[in-house]
Amino acid sequence: MLTQNLGYPRIGSQRQLKKACEQFWAGKIDLKDLKEVARKIKEENWQTQLDAGIDLIPCNDFSFYDQVLDTSLMLGVIPQRYSPVLSQVKANSEIDLYFAMARGYQKDGLDITAMEMTKWLDTNYHYIVPEFTANQEFRIFHENVFGEYNSAKQQLGQKAKPVLVGPVSYLLQGKEKEQGFERIDLIKKLVPVYIDIINRLKQQGAEWIQLDEPCLALDLSKKEKEAFEFAYRAIANRVSGVKLLVATYFEALLDNTQLAVNLPVAALHVDLVRAPEQLDEVLALIPEHLKLSIGVVDGRNVWKNDYEKSVSLIQKAVEKLGTDRVIVAPSCSLLHSPIDLDLETAIDPEIKNWMAFAKQKLNEVSELKQITEGNNDLLEANKKAIESRRSSQKVHKQVVKDRVAAITAADATRQSAFPVRQQIQRERFHLPSFPTTTIGSFPQTDDIRQLRARFKKGDLTLEQYEKEIEQATIDAIRWQEEIGLDVLVHGEFERNDMVEYFGEQLNGFLFTKNGWVQSYGSRCVKPPVIYGDVSRPKDMTVRWSTFAAAQTSRPMKGMLTGPVTILQWSFVRDDQPRDVTTNQIAFAIHDEVLALEAAGIGIVQIDEAAIREGLPLRKAKRPHYLDWAVNAFRITASGVQDKTQIHTHMCYSEFNDIIEHIAAMDADVITIETSRSQMELLQAFAHFEYPNEIGPGVYDIHSPRVPTTEEMASLLAKAADLLPAQHLWVNPDCGLKTRKWPETKAALENMVAAAKQAREQI
Ligand code: GLN
Ligand code: ZN
Repeated sequence: MLTQNLGYPRIGSQRQLKKACEQFWAGKIDLKDLKEVARKIKEENWQTQLDAGIDLIPCNDFSFYDQVLDTSLMLGVIPQRYSPVLSQVKANSEIDLYFAMARGYQKDGLDITAMEMTKWLDTNYHYIVPEFTANQEFRIFHENVFGEYNSAKQQLGQKAKPVLVGPVSYLLQGKEKEQGFERIDLIKKLVPVYIDIINRLKQQGAEWIQLDEPCLALDLSKKEKEAFEFAYRAIANRVSGVKLLVATYFEALLDNTQLAVNLPVAALHVDLVRAPEQLDEVLALIPEHLKLSIGVVDGRNVWKNDYEKSVSLIQKAVEKLGTDRVIVAPSCSLLHSPIDLDLETAIDPEIKNWMAFAKQKLNEVSELKQITEGNNDLLEANKKAIESRRSSQKVHKQVVKDRVAAITAADATRQSAFPVRQQIQRERFHLPSFPTTTIGSFPQTDDIRQLRARFKKGDLTLEQYEKEIEQATIDAIRWQEEIGLDVLVHGEFERNDMVEYFGEQLNGFLFTKNGWVQSYGSRCVKPPVIYGDVSRPKDMTVRWSTFAAAQTSRPMKGMLTGPVTILQWSFVRDDQPRDVTTNQIAFAIHDEVLALEAAGIGIVQIDEAAIREGLPLRKAKRPHYLDWAVNAFRITASGVQDKTQIHTHMCYSEFNDIIEHIAAMDADVITIETSRSQMELLQAFAHFEYPNEIGPGVYDIHSPRVPTTEEMASLLAKAADLLPAQHLWVNPDCGLKTRKWPETKAALENMVAAAKQAREQI
């Protein structure tokens, strides 16, 4: 029986790659220094995997920015707009071109935009979207993969296994940049290049090559299925003497199982963490020759593997296939895991004993093999840790479980229907038509960040710190009054991050020191870990909201983060379904909403920035997710009186397919991101006759550019063409924390002016 790994984090255990890239971009180090940092990370990663006893070790999984962008460069898929970079810049041209594609290029008199970036399937990792034209050509443009294999081979010998993004998923994850063709039809042109690459790797000595085809686990059209058949048959016809492994992950193969097991390759990898149930069908259909790699160690979470569970899956596979045809592996690339649990010295040892990061996960893979071969001691030690977690008082709080178990429809229903509430709220707040507001945060300046850092270090007392935050809040309120905003916010100066701020105050969360995961390019995130039943020991936001409300006679919004967003941006429990965890968080937020109401706050915004991003990959699973996600939101918002106005905010507003669920959230007001689409995203709301109030963002907060009053007024006019004017609010696309004050002030002044125009004209 073999063991393998599919990919390893490349940022380095101390985020060396992040730092080196940023220094390179700033011109502080040269390409040689950058490559040296990369070389060290790769060698260290390979050594770690060798030491763990892994048989097939990935190479070419390293990337300076993103592996899909690497693939585009390898295949010569370089949008026309970058040709000046290639011809103008000499010394480092390839890396300059590469980073230009990733980040845009503003030098040497050129101003070229970056390529689009989007989430890799259902992860929080962002890749650079390939851009295809109707006459797209492919060739081996960048030869990096061969060098990567060579250096890996020197260190790893036959264990070195090059990893490529598979040809079909590469096309499917890209985009057509002009009309008149379908990108999947490019497969005929693309496959010959893959054949060349594979043959060259074989000549260099590669025994195994991994092709990542996560799209095999998605809903596929007939044509897409045929593309898989065509591509792998064509490759098989022209390649021999090297073993190809097709890797799927993040979902079950389901209706694609026949197709997947019959691809003419040596091995297929399936994700048995996400979808353990698929093993039976895969085993039933698997042909004689095929080896099966079973992903039993979770590559997307931080928990220790339950060996008993995994061993039973491995044994089931071994019974049918024999040890020679089974490969043990993590569920997916470990790119999505933090690197090394050993670096965490501050986590409660009891809880730490339940956890595993990438390095520990490799050991798990190799221990699982040893257990299957009869090493029972390893199994016993693991059972103890699993049992300790299963029964720990730190995890399990009966009152929390009871409350969630007893949820009824009443917990998720406002007292009256929206039209009744709307009337009562109008009489209470006396807002003008087109009321103006913002999404919550104001610029997190260096001063504010330093304040927090100094307080954390102990250089400021709580009193000194709060005094400064109070002053920032007062200034922001005075200023909002001056420019004439209608519904004010306190500015969120006391918050580091919209999830962390709540996680730090709730029971059941822990924070790591080094648990970084790559989000995009050099950007890493450090998600909180939800380990136990979630409860709210005390008020979380009442102090700052009531302080702010007392400074003004205008309505002040209370500002909370919703349960789905907290879940989505954390590492979550794997010992209970996601909806149970979400409902626990929902009750905690519900209690906070009631506390705000009791303290006199009349308007509460519960941000669900990430509700769309939690959507399952397979269509068939979406209704169930949407049901519980929407219900969790409704739990947070129910229980208040009709006169209390509940807002929610959502980023990325491509809601076409889920609009009825957005309506089912039944927020009195939603604010969404729409300005970059010129209000086009509102059409779904219009078509659905969205019944509640809505604030389509009238300006893009991602750019420092100050929009004019006219621009925003014309967007408002467009919105008023689509939706009843008396339902419209006026606000930016999202929070302003990443902006600077001068542009924020100028933009909001113009926004208020645009609302005034709308009041007169519409
Ligand atoms: N209230 C948050 C803010 O204004 C919302 C941020 C978000 O939607 N990502 O920053
Ligand atoms: Zn937002």
